[in-house]
Amino acid sequence: MDKKELAELLALEDFEPIYQKADEVRRKTKGDIVDIRAIIEYSNICVRRCRYCGLNSDNKNASRYKMTEDEILDTARQAAEAGYKTIVLQSGEAPVFKIQELGEIVRRIKDMGPAVTVSCGELSYEELRYLKECGADRYLLKHETADPKLYAELHPCGTLKERVTCLRTISGLGYETGSGFMIGLPGQSLMTIADDLLLLKELNCQMAGIGPFIPHPDTPLKDEKRGSTELTKRAVALARLLLPEANLPVTTALGVINKQEKESAFACGANVIMKKVTPDPYRAAYEIYPAQLEKCDIEGDRKRLEEQIQALGRIPV
Ligand code: SAM
Repeated sequence: MDKKELAELLALEDFEPIYQKADEVRRKTKGDIVDIRAIIEYSNICVRRCRYCGLNSDNKNASRYKMTEDEILDTARQAAEAGYKTIVLQSGEAPVFKIQELGEIVRRIKDMGPAVTVSCGELSYEELRYLKECGADRYLLKHETADPKLYAELHPCGTLKERVTCLRTISGLGYETGSGFMIGLPGQSLMTIADDLLLLKELNCQMAGIGPFIPHPDTPLKDEKRGSTELTKRAVALARLLLPEANLPVTTALGVINKQEKESAFACGANVIMKKVTPDPYRAAYEIYPAQLEKCDIEGDRKRLEEQIQALGRIPV
């Protein structure tokens, strides 16, 4: 599929046949298993100024935190005991831990059993290599938008070229590599989304997180419209066709919009769901976009999610 074809498909009046095809491919490559992954948001301190993100360093209303090593390990232990087989360590982009300290956290979580995904922004080759040596399995760094001009408008710090170079480094080091992008960024067109999908393919991503943009009241984009759920699901379905073997999460942002939508998102090619296990009071402070959050209940949340997935005829793992 080329760029024009992808943009035409995204605009189809009746997308149902594509959803069915994506679901068929998902069944063939991934079976009925849904991977539930625990995400620990260990710090919301960030040096970047991404114009859409509630964590951007210009947001003086954000109450900043960094979990201690013990808090992170304790949360990871509870998640592992509740049955999670992957722990995602996410943070804003800032060196809140020395790389040796972060490596030690990775090592100790690996000793508990789960796979570890790291998602803390752009790191140097040496840092990425070090974390890989400590046992990190996957790295998640969304390219956000494949349009260099739009990227520059939204990101006063950093360039698309640097982001993509970092993604290639991640892949070259043997990480399971995850990228992704947002749907509904102001200035984005269907042709941009087609480019986003083609970039995932070019990078040969093994994971791709595609989620709607949700305006945050303390950011310059506060008055913009939120991204379309339907268009997000369409992009996920096309990602499944372009990358049949990829792990495609139902993004947490999609879950925020509507519980019903989360369920239907599984019918368009997704096979992964991320569940926040960040403890109180930090979970509310990790506010990328506004979300209604319940009190942290790692075991109970996982049980409920397993039941929801089973009710859809799928197998939670
Ligand atoms: N600092 C790391 C990084 O840059 O990859 C990880 C944390 S960052 C907050 C995680 C993701 O949140 C970003 O990749 C971006 O796609 C998403 N995000 C941020 N603000 C958002 C918003 N307003 N709506 C939807 N997604 C958003």
